[in-house]
Amino acid sequence: MYHVKERGRSGFRFYQKQMNIGLLSRMKLDHAMRQALENNDFQLYFQPQVDLASGKIVGAEALIRWHDQELGNIPPARFIPVAEHSGQIVELGEWVLHQACRQAQVWRTQGLGDVVISVNMSPVQARRGDMERAVDDALQASGLPPALLELELTESLLIDETDQLTAMLARLRSRGITFAIDDFGTGYSNLAYLKRFEVERLKIDQSFIRRLTVNPDDEAIVQAILQMAAALKLGVIAEGVEDDATLRRLFALGCRQGQGYHWSPAIPAARFEAFVRERHGL
Ligand code: C2E
Ligand code: MG
Ligand code: MG
Repeated sequence: MYHVKERGRSGFRFYQKQMNIGLLSRMKLDHAMRQALENNDFQLYFQPQVDLASGKIVGAEALIRWHDQELGNIPPARFIPVAEHSGQIVELGEWVLHQACRQAQVWRTQGLGDVVISVNMSPVQARRGDMERAVDDALQASGLPPALLELELTESLLIDETDQLTAMLARLRSRGITFAIDDFGTGYSNLAYLKRFEVERLKIDQSFIRRLTVNPDDEAIVQAILQMAAALKLGVIAEGVEDDATLRRLFALGCRQGQGYHWSPAIPAARFEAFVRERHGL
């Protein structure tokens, strides 16, 4: 049943032996995750977001990391879907929100300035969890001004949003929290949701950035996104900028913010602080 549902709703699959293995390892992973939450084995890393004109750090995306004693490093692409499937993402997401807000506030008190912290929100978290309360709790516990918290939503969440969800997002927005659309351009060609719900930023998916300088099709798509964003008065950040040539091309196309290995991968909080101090001459 799960295998059918994974490919969309109505369908069928023949039973295969390895499905059990898949299920087993998923259960194992889910159990290990529960343990990891209890033991505080998760870590939050931070990837700088850069203003292309000044080279200054304007924000940080919080990205979860998990190192397990036995299993080694487990990438989020592996365990987030499992956590979404079991519902554990709600708890995990709350942990991320709290850590992220706390860290951003620590940086402020350490004189690092206002670093906007971006937190990835799973659609499951937004639909199933008590996201509004979780966000409020994290802001209250940390003392972080809401304007310094950006929530990254996926196109898939906004495409079939309900009235309830729209209202909840609008309430969060009225408190000053901002929203970005993650992996923009990969989800849907129906952009009507951009009219229904206001977001501040589009994050151009790295699949369009990777070959930007060699593939004219990618350049055309990036250009179109930038033009549309300018007309709609939305901010844009390019994800997955890996070299100087890409950075220059993006700048020439009118993009003003970037994130990627060209500057830094996601790094622990202490290293992020050192990175900002060095770049900003603090
Ligand atoms: P995402 O939000 O699109 O995050 C960007 C991913 O691209 C990160 O992978 C990041 O390390 C990677 N990346 C950044 N710059 C570059 C680059 O220049 N080149 C290349 N090749 N890759 C780059 P990561 O950390 O493995 O995260 C993968 C996905 O897992 C994220 O995609 C996000 O959807 C999800 N994720 C990570 N942390 C969380 C979290 O706390 N909560 C939720 N719900 N999802 C998370
Ligand atoms: Mg993201
Ligand atoms: Mg992304």
